[in-house]
Amino acid sequence: MISSETEGIVLHRAEYREADRMLTIISPETGRVDILARGIRKPTAKLHAASELFTRGIFQLADSGGRFTLTGFQLIDAYTQMRGDYTKLSLASYALGLTAAAAQENLPAHNLYEILRLSLEEFCAGESGAFKTSLLHAMRFAAIEGIFPTLDKCCVCGEPDEQLSRFSAQEGGLCHKSCAPYSTAVSCGIVHALQECANSEPLTEEDGVIQSAFKLMRSYIREQLGFSVKAEKALDQL
Ligand SMILES: [Zn+2]
Repeated sequence: MISSETEGIVLHRAEYREADRMLTIISPETGRVDILARGIRKPTAKLHAASELFTRGIFQLADSGGRFTLTGFQLIDAYTQMRGDYTKLSLASYALGLTAAAAQENLPAHNLYEILRLSLEEFCAGESGAFKTSLLHAMRFAAIEGIFPTLDKCCVCGEPDEQLSRFSAQEGGLCHKSCAPYSTAVSCGIVHALQECANSEPLTEEDGVIQSAFKLMRSYIREQLGFSVKAEKALDQL
């Protein structure tokens, strides 16, 4: 039995046996880690804080042949300020779902971890709108996964064009209607919001436009990576 510790954020949890939980965390150094938390559902459990979704902390682990058991936990941030807000919670759940789908075992995930941490902090600070935070997270996620959309030219013919008003999730970005007939029409506000994200400029479009741009990015990520996130059902109701 080897002891180790890692910083992490709880991405998923599942009830196991009578009083246990299986936790999935993302660690910057080792990516996705599944951890058995014994007795954590008992009212007297000392490590209870470690098994809440979104919680960030230092997880102490016993490693028995690649199977990890929780032995200690130090809380860094529970992100309590966003937990009472249904919209923020739904948006944060989507960010968790993306992270869980992309993180791999035994593979460093510094960037994935960092953009999630940053987004959870932004949701709590509440300075920018929650959809701005989510749009930025989705764009950064796309960059990390190597699927950043083409926004400065037609993604099909490569012709630079400032008036592009169509988006193709399949082809990978803005395009001419003639180049991708089944592409979606997008407003110039959405195009502008995506380009501001790409250029790391402050987002100036109003909330409704940001929300639409985020929805477009969600369908883009779904199409490009071939997975959907459970939390999207709640987002479609917002
Ligand atoms: Zn074209």
